[in-house]
Amino acid sequence: MKIIMLGAPGAGKGTQAKQIAEKYTIPHISTGDIFRANIKNNTELGKKAKEYMDQGLLVPDELTCDLVMDRIKEDDAKNGFVLDGFPRTIPQAEALDKALSAIGESMDYAIDVDVPDENIVNRMSGRRACVECGATYHIVAIPPKQEGICDKCGSKLILRDDDKPETVQKRLDVYHEQTQPLIDYYKKQGILKSVDGTQDMEKVFADITDILGA
Ligand code: ADP
Ligand code: AMP
Repeated sequence: MKIIMLGAPGAGKGTQAKQIAEKYTIPHISTGDIFRANIKNNTELGKKAKEYMDQGLLVPDELTCDLVMDRIKEDDAKNGFVLDGFPRTIPQAEALDKALSAIGESMDYAIDVDVPDENIVNRMSGRRACVECGATYHIVAIPPKQEGICDKCGSKLILRDDDKPETVQKRLDVYHEQTQPLIDYYKKQGILKSVDGTQDMEKVFADITDILGA
C-alpha cells in the first residue's frame, strides 16, 4: 500500500502517518524528519535545508526529490510506504510518478487531512517534539504524561523553531501557493480521499482505516 499524506503544516499528517505505518507495517517516510535528522547531525544537506526551513520556505526540489526516490527503493519499502510531507510541489509529485511508473507502479491513495487555517496556528504553537525520537505531542489535545518529557524515550520536548508564530503564517502561505494544488492533481488521478482533520486523533484514524480497509 503506497500512501501520500496531504494537508497543511500542522494538520496532523505525521500523527496519522505514524499510526498507519504501525497498523499496515510499512515505513513512515517524513521528509521533514529526514531534514531535521540531517540538521542534528550537521551534514551538508542539513546545513542547506536549515536555511530554508527556518524561513518557513520549502527546501528546493533538487535537494528533496532524489533523497525520497532513494528511500522508497530500500528493502523495507517493498510492500509500500506512507509519505508524510512529500510531495509538496507539482514537480515533486511528477518526479514521484515518474520514478514509480519506471518500475510499473503507482501511488494508491492521497489522503488529505483537512484542517482550516484558523485551527492550524493553535496546532503548531501547541506542538511539542521530542529532540531524540521525533515523537510529537500537543500541550492541550495530546499532552505527554509528564510535562516537557517524551512518553516514549524520556527525552526533552521542544517547540520546533519553525513552529514559532512568526514562521507559521509564512508556512501556511507557502502551503496554499505550492502544495494545495496537489489536491487537484491527485483528484484528477482518482486517488484523492479527504478526511476531516478537526476531529479528535482517534476519529481521524478511524476514518482513514475505513478508506484503506482492514
Ligand atoms: P503535521 O505532520 O501535519 O505537520 P502533526 O501530526 O505534527 O502535523 O500535528 C500537529 C500538532 O497537532 C501536534 O501538536 C499534534 O499533537 C496535534 N494534533 C494532531 N492531530 C490532532 C487532532 N486530531 N486533534 C488535535 N490535535 C492534533
Ligand atoms: P514538516 O516536518 O513536514 O512540517 O517539514 C518541515 C520543513 O521541512 C518544511 O517547512 C520545509 O521547509 C521542509 N520540507 C519538508 N518536506 C519538504 C518537501 N517535500 N519539499 C520541500 N521542503 C520540505
